[in-house]
Amino acid sequence: MRELLEQYQLLLAPLIFVPFEQLFAARQQKIFRRGLSTDMAFLLLNGWLVFVGVTAIIALATLVNQSILPSAVKQAVSDLPYWAQAPIAIVIGDLGIYWTHRILHVVPAMWRIHAVHHAVEELDWLAAIHQHPLDVTFMKVGSLFPLFALGFSAEAIGTYLAIYYWQSWLAHANVRLGYGPLRHVLVSPEFHHWHHSSEQEARDKNYAGLFSFYDVLFGSLYLPEGQKPTAFGVDHPMPTRYLALLAYPFFAWASMLKRDDPSGTRRPVGAEAVPGTATPPAHQDG
Ligand SMILES: [Zn+2]
Ligand SMILES: [Zn+2]
Repeated sequence: MRELLEQYQLLLAPLIFVPFEQLFAARQQKIFRRGLSTDMAFLLLNGWLVFVGVTAIIALATLVNQSILPSAVKQAVSDLPYWAQAPIAIVIGDLGIYWTHRILHVVPAMWRIHAVHHAVEELDWLAAIHQHPLDVTFMKVGSLFPLFALGFSAEAIGTYLAIYYWQSWLAHANVRLGYGPLRHVLVSPEFHHWHHSSEQEARDKNYAGLFSFYDVLFGSLYLPEGQKPTAFGVDHPMPTRYLALLAYPFFAWASMLKRDDPSGTRRPVGAEAVPGTATPPAHQDG
């Protein structure tokens, strides 16, 4: 039943977001843009690889819940009704996303995984799926592990996942939406577009998935008034095909070990011998 629902949501997403982007486009962009076939491969194949990682996370978190978690905490969580569990699960889940996402940016070896997501140069709703399976799995460690370990109900966790699922499409969508006075509370498409910007000041900012107030709280917010990000992507060569993107972090790590130089998060890694890499993007940072 759940699989059926996911397939249904997958069919529904383009029906909502393609016309939405045409009506409220932030930038002029074609529907059939560059990299569309690679994104379709991510859409169809990534789920199987992520499923393995998520199953392991849930099994480990359930073990922690049953053998390590004090029974008083377990009782306190399970005593909460759904209407209280669901919002708490959403707040905890997004705090996990914030920190795992930040680690993916600031730890050089982790950046090699996350660079796959930031390789997208024409941002739209489908860019949400352009993520290495290890990246998705690591994000789920941050968000799902604490929820399952603390013993939140399946309904509360399901509510968090459904909201996060639709929010990911929306945050990447090529639409003009900034949320006005709520921009420092909720993650808008404008907020996440800045996260993908290749401009120097915007780098390693705006990590939250749902609540931008986490970036306000932890000092990583970048939302300049009256400006829009214009260029996206990273400043080092990246592959453009699905299988080459899957292999990218492994070749990059091998190259880092060879050079014994764990360089900064986004410094050019042009010396890396990564098969299938494209030429560097034409635009320069800053
Ligand atoms: Zn990121
Ligand atoms: Zn993104």
